Amino acid sequence: MATMTAPPPTATRTPGGAFLITNPTPASCFFPEDFTEEHRAIAKSTADFATNEIVPHSDAIEAKDFAITRSLIKKAAELGLTAADIPEEYGGLEMDKATSAIIAENISKQGSFSVAFSAHTGIGTLPLVWYGTEAQKAKYLPSIADGSMVGAYALSESSSGSDAVNASTRAVLSEDGSTYTLNGEKMWITNGGFADLYTIFAKCLVTEGKDAGKERLTAFLVERGTPGFTSGKEEHKLGIRGSSTTPLILSDCKIPASNLLGEVGKGHHIAFNILNVGRYKLGNAAVGGAKGAFLNGLKYSKERKAFGKAICEFGLIQEKLANMATGIFVGEAMCYRTVGLIDQALEGVDKNNTTEIQKRIEEYAVECSMVKVWTSEMLDMVVDESLQIFAGYGYVEEYPAERAYRDARINRIFEGTNEINRLIITGWLMKSAMSGKLALMPAIKSIMDEVMSGPGEKEEREGALAAEYNLLAAAKKLTLFVAGSATQKYMQKIADEQEVMGALADMIIAVYTMESAILRAEKIGTSDSSIPTAMARLYAARAIETIEKSARMVIAAVAEGDMARTQFAILRRLARHDPADTIALRRQIAAHVIRAGKYAL
Ligand SMILES: Cc1cc2nc3c(=O)[nH]c(=O)nc-3n(C[C@H](O)[C@H](O)[C@H](O)COP(=O)(O)OP(=O)(O)OC[C@H]3O[C@@H](n4cnc5c(N)ncnc54)[C@H](O)[C@@H]3O)c2cc1C
Repeated sequence: MATMTAPPPTATRTPGGAFLITNPTPASCFFPEDFTEEHRAIAKSTADFATNEIVPHSDAIEAKDFAITRSLIKKAAELGLTAADIPEEYGGLEMDKATSAIIAENISKQGSFSVAFSAHTGIGTLPLVWYGTEAQKAKYLPSIADGSMVGAYALSESSSGSDAVNASTRAVLSEDGSTYTLNGEKMWITNGGFADLYTIFAKCLVTEGKDAGKERLTAFLVERGTPGFTSGKEEHKLGIRGSSTTPLILSDCKIPASNLLGEVGKGHHIAFNILNVGRYKLGNAAVGGAKGAFLNGLKYSKERKAFGKAICEFGLIQEKLANMATGIFVGEAMCYRTVGLIDQALEGVDKNNTTEIQKRIEEYAVECSMVKVWTSEMLDMVVDESLQIFAGYGYVEEYPAERAYRDARINRIFEGTNEINRLIITGWLMKSAMSGKLALMPAIKSIMDEVMSGPGEKEEREGALAAEYNLLAAAKKLTLFVAGSATQKYMQKIADEQEVMGALADMIIAVYTMESAILRAEKIGTSDSSIPTAMARLYAARAIETIEKSARMVIAAVAEGDMARTQFAILRRLARHDPADTIALRRQIAAHVIRAGKYAL
């Protein structure tokens, strides 16, 4: 973990959470339009692999034929798809983070396989890459990279999921210091039934430092086949039925002391830092899943006739198609913008300096959580609307909409539930504001002064998205204003006001997604006839509604009497706008995708 070169100074990159107080330009953001030739080639080869190799085995995968899943992971490895995040000296390809995000999106044509693959390449691999000793990496990473070993990550237990640091599993070091003995039971472990190498978290006695004498979460590497280790029965799940989800039973399971991963008592760093990557990649996988469900729904809507017409000719079906396509457009924009920020932050950081790498990624914890929450909910909307387009046929197993609907649901639960991620979003920003790490407090103060002193001058903009830029400026002001108002009322105790924290998170996410959509449309090129422009307009109209609704809820909770009336007046003033003709926008978008027969910009 030696630092070979000095990392670039913070000033050269956009800090996490800064979008609320800065005005990024299209040029400063990474979107799919910025993919290099290499990115496009990887996207295509991954998508071809998923279509030609994975999807034909869908029935076997769903029947839990894990030999097929393993052989497909191995085949994916032959194409280099499992090695993007692994250093070259251990058989990896050491690509930028955008590449592994592109792989995550394009492999996601079969939900169960996608989950198995992500668990292997993400949470099953990264703890070792980031925290492994040279010897551990040399022993395991080449086999992880070439797919001959499959990885898994075991944090959750029956009584500690969200509250993972409260694990009951214990690890005890032998008196001679040669072995750890693990006892306990893990639950819901992806790839549990067939993985070869497990990163297992257990409480272990800390003997040095400030936590000496306390039991703290610690990570260990456990190989399948170790005496005392067994994986339990497969869970029968609502969706992703072809992925393996099992408990792990550790009964006097002895592992060499050299299988300690990282330091005793520092397991929570490993557990949570890895989840940031899991979260942004989940976003890419959700976008990939949404594209599949959209395509199925679109195709069916062109084939199915009712009242003598293809159902895609009906306005209410077109409304769905437009909402789905716009969801995908915004999802892509926010996912790649986020991974672009991370790649930018990692520029110049030595690839062996894993401590600095994690620190840099952790700076974007808010963006990672926003991606996780928004894309998982967008995916649920898309699979639901796709099923509704199929209607009766959507409800039966023979048609693809039914499985997509079931498979999508897990995304709001794992990698931190959406409730936990909403709390992280607001909590992280509040903490950064209070500590001065992010200049949110001065920004909040200046907005409070500005809005309290009456209507100011509105910046006049020009161009096809002028109204949306105005909405975005208002959305930022409103979010900061409402956050300021809530902070004034609750101070440090705001974390106890979960509904307020959740509403603020929704406002923050709406700002980020709205901005991502507008900047991406601008980058592609705006005009009244441009589809990205229409999508950005449609989405901005929806995002400002979310912001207004959440703002109203928070103000009603934090202010009373004259103060409430003043704050509601400010809300009305800031949010005032001429509503966009969303019916026309949806028709325009739907006509385009129906003509193209796919999601195409
Ligand atoms: C198919 C599948 C695969 C999985 N794969 C893995 C894996 O590979 N490795 C692994 O370690 N785990 C895995 N998990 C576990 C998953 O991460 C947990 O289910 C998840 O973290 C939630 O924990 P829980 O189920 O115990 O819910 P709980 O923590 O009991 O939460 C129950 C509800 O309460 C809410 N809640 C909890 N705490 C709070 C709070 N403080 N404030 C507000 N609301 C709260 C939650 O949001 C949720 O709605 C998997 C789960 C499933 C279903």
